[in-house]
Amino acid sequence: MPVIKVDLHCPYCGKDFDIELVENATEDDLIEECPLCGHPLDVRLVLDPQTGNVVGAEVHRVDGDTDD
Ligand SMILES: [Zn+2]
Repeated sequence: MPVIKVDLHCPYCGKDFDIELVENATEDDLIEECPLCGHPLDVRLVLDPQTGNVVGAEVHRVDGDTDD
């Protein structure tokens, strides 16, 4: 199963990190914990509209604060 690495930017601690995702992930909205500060992050996968494969990811705060 192909795995891709996507770069994420933590809105809490401001650090960049990367995670590995399966390319044909069925969940496009998941919770990942920042490995640096431990905050849960709302990760929304960006899918290629034609292939449905994961091409990237966006990080949002889970606490409702939309300031990212
Ligand atoms: Zn963090």
